[in-house]
Amino acid sequence: RQRTDDLCFSNSFAELPPAFYTRLQPTPLPAPYLIAGSPAAARLIGLDPAEFADAHFIASFSGNRPLPGAIPLAGVYSGHQFGVWAGQLGDGRAILLGDVPGADGPLELQLKGAGQTPYSRHADGRAVLRSSIREFLCSEAMAGLGIPTSRALCVTGSDLRVMREAPETTAVVTRMAPSFVRFGSFEHWYYNDKQAELKHLADYVIRRFYPDLLTVENPYQALLAEVTTRTAHLMAQWQAVGFMHGVMNTDNMSILGLTIDYGPFGFMEAFDARHICNHSDPQGRYAYSMQPQIGEWNCYALGQALLPLIGTADATHAALALYQPAYADKMDQLLRAKLGLKSSAPEDEPLYQSMFALMQANHVDFTLFFRRLGDLQVNNPAADEPLRDLFIDRAAFDAWAVQYRQRLKHEGSDDATRRLAMHAVNPKYVLRNYLAQVAIDKAEHKDFSEVEKLLKILENPFDDQPDNEAYAALPPDWASQLEVSCSS
Ligand code: AMP
Ligand code: MG
Ligand code: MG
Repeated sequence: RQRTDDLCFSNSFAELPPAFYTRLQPTPLPAPYLIAGSPAAARLIGLDPAEFADAHFIASFSGNRPLPGAIPLAGVYSGHQFGVWAGQLGDGRAILLGDVPGADGPLELQLKGAGQTPYSRHADGRAVLRSSIREFLCSEAMAGLGIPTSRALCVTGSDLRVMREAPETTAVVTRMAPSFVRFGSFEHWYYNDKQAELKHLADYVIRRFYPDLLTVENPYQALLAEVTTRTAHLMAQWQAVGFMHGVMNTDNMSILGLTIDYGPFGFMEAFDARHICNHSDPQGRYAYSMQPQIGEWNCYALGQALLPLIGTADATHAALALYQPAYADKMDQLLRAKLGLKSSAPEDEPLYQSMFALMQANHVDFTLFFRRLGDLQVNNPAADEPLRDLFIDRAAFDAWAVQYRQRLKHEGSDDATRRLAMHAVNPKYVLRNYLAQVAIDKAEHKDFSEVEKLLKILENPFDDQPDNEAYAALPPDWASQLEVSCSS
């Protein structure tokens, strides 16, 4: 178990030509303190979680103290925001320290909220406590759910205040991923007509993250194919847990198919396929039901940027054509698991459709529905009460349950086996907005215990945690008033 200064930093991104980034130091955070740390994230880089309490750790991960071997820099990228070309964006408040060896390969460490960079455009380079706690908790919650994501090592805070709609306290999240290269990193060079840089970036990404593609006939087409497939799979995983990202701009899409850049995200509660989690998205471009097609739209934007390297529109289209079957296959696999089905049958598609229609009509809580569905017994409808109670229209539920039971009987499903399998894929605990809000409200008063408690719960979202039943319950009435926007 290493101490902070034992972390062996290098910075592979800094080996790219200088046009890709600006080297700079983080802006110190006045009198920083620890808000939370993730022991699981620390273990990924061989860091002793006991370091969280150490003054060197806190100073280093608030940007106040240089780390040996780190080469701090802010990277440049561009992107499409809400479907419109936005031009240059870049790391406006994230500073990449470098990468350290990890259990599954090197991980880059970024300080988010560490001050202005040349890409800050007129903003202050800071992140507020509320959004930093949300990113920290959701990164680790997604990891607990088994969904590809950047990780979060810690959040440090300060009494420094910055202006948003009102003054708010600032924080810094240290996040980790093998790479933070985005679709927009490629679009940047494409739209600036810089073919050499475009190729340089693609070669870097392939060499470092997709080395198997080096030997194929058209590595750039293969890169697009791989990213398209990963993105399709990620969208299916989001849909299957009711996760809504909120700002699926191309600058927030990971070239590794990870969930990155947590902002106004949400988990579906009362089911509404058109639900919009981002208050700043009145058109609902990034509504729940839109995510799969937006994922594909974003892959097309990446395809456009890679076209000069791939060579032909046909070859580019061939790679993009993988999206829909990859999404459909993954979604089918995930839905079958969510319903505890061992086999595929022609009647499954209508069964899913009627289930979602029923959830929509009854505004059923997404997480509780699938969790309680796992408790259903094939020959004992009396045991359905807690599940049935989620529906206003009980008769409609009963009618659907008849179909579902028939389907289970058809494949000789065993209640106990199916329950175990379903509970292993349908989480009991997700980061409901109001749970995050309670932790944030306490943190604003310097009580960070609820952040720590939520982290522990969300690390094991599939386990029954008898002491934490309240965290799995329906949200309280006040939760429906919560609004989350882009301003963070
Ligand atoms: P986002 O919507 O959070 O992905 O951010 C879009 C762009 O705005 C990125 O280039 C961010 O770095 C930049 N940005 C967002 N908030 C700030 C801030 N407070 N200071 C500087 N840049 C920011
Ligand atoms: Mg430069
Ligand atoms: Mg972003």
